[in-house]
Amino acid sequence: MASLKNIAIIGSTGSIGRQTLEVIRSFPGRFHITALAAGRNTVLLSEQVDEFKPEYVFYEGANKDIGDAEFLPLRDIVSLDEIDIVVMAPSGLAGLKPTLWAGQAGKTIALANKESLVMAGNLIIEETRKHSGKILPVDSEHSAIWQCLKGERKPVEKIILTASGGPFFNYSPTKLDTVTPEQALRHPSWLMGPKVTIDSATLLNKGLEVIEAHHLFNVSYSQIDVLIHPPSLIHSLIEFKDGSVKAQLSYPDMRLPIQYALSYPKRWVNRNLPRIDWTLIKNLPIEKPDTSAFPCLKLAYDAGRGGGTYPAALCGAGEACVQMFLNKKIRFTQIGIIIEQVLNEHKPAAVSDIEAVEETAKQAWSRAFEISRKRD
Ligand code: MG
Repeated sequence: MASLKNIAIIGSTGSIGRQTLEVIRSFPGRFHITALAAGRNTVLLSEQVDEFKPEYVFYEGANKDIGDAEFLPLRDIVSLDEIDIVVMAPSGLAGLKPTLWAGQAGKTIALANKESLVMAGNLIIEETRKHSGKILPVDSEHSAIWQCLKGERKPVEKIILTASGGPFFNYSPTKLDTVTPEQALRHPSWLMGPKVTIDSATLLNKGLEVIEAHHLFNVSYSQIDVLIHPPSLIHSLIEFKDGSVKAQLSYPDMRLPIQYALSYPKRWVNRNLPRIDWTLIKNLPIEKPDTSAFPCLKLAYDAGRGGGTYPAALCGAGEACVQMFLNKKIRFTQIGIIIEQVLNEHKPAAVSDIEAVEETAKQAWSRAFEISRKRD
């Protein structure tokens, strides 16, 4: 019998956290949940504690145990000796520090939070390596690249990240101006949390994934391309030196990349995961992204190439814009305009420590709000 893996899930009440628990439910006897950490959704967290009986718990706003689970600070949770894998699933800026801490504790991190690598990729990768930790990608595109790289020698010629194009694929700028949060939250192919769903609609998500791929696979920005593939069956492609191309395909379901990170290096049978019926696939359409209607993709390339604190400013401004758009304070098309202004004003510095990165993101976040108020 396989040995039991001890798991901590950071962000257990979010979309990836809940889907991780679904995967874990499919494999009784293979995992033990040692710790669960969440933000403020203590109702769901308490239900998860009842079901999975972790020894430790963390949430924001109080300092109390839940049932038999002892409250521990987040840094202690991600550093617990007995944990084999930390599933890092908070949304947005909240993932930054816990990812660094888990790396410094030498953990294997199943990383679903992309902003941490985008904002502080060099620092996190260096610290994780120094402490003999590992980062296993959960983001579906990066999981695809990782799976395609198995058995291959790097360097690769090109990485091609695919994007669904979101709900507004092929919309004109005029039509984009009137789209609502409700429409933007209806993603055509993926089930995801609100932040990444809006980022997916603006293509900012794909831009963040370009920076994430740059750090994870140590490739230059000129080696990373983005193509639109609305059915979301091809999760990404690699072109090798000899021109051969490998891709990973599966039905768009986050449970598969989550499971692969948990079962790695093995593959496990999970009958709950949907399979592609090839007889139903008539074509696999691929198109170039429209960067004039969706400027966030280019802004992210520029921020990545600019380096230093630029990506942290991008993430801070991006998160503020998602919040303002969801609260109907700005229009969809203002997202790119505001992010661009924040980046243009930003005075970049080298990334020296995590506090500076966090501070940059916070300032960019506040500046995005200020800009929107001035435009009213
Ligand atoms: Mg993704």
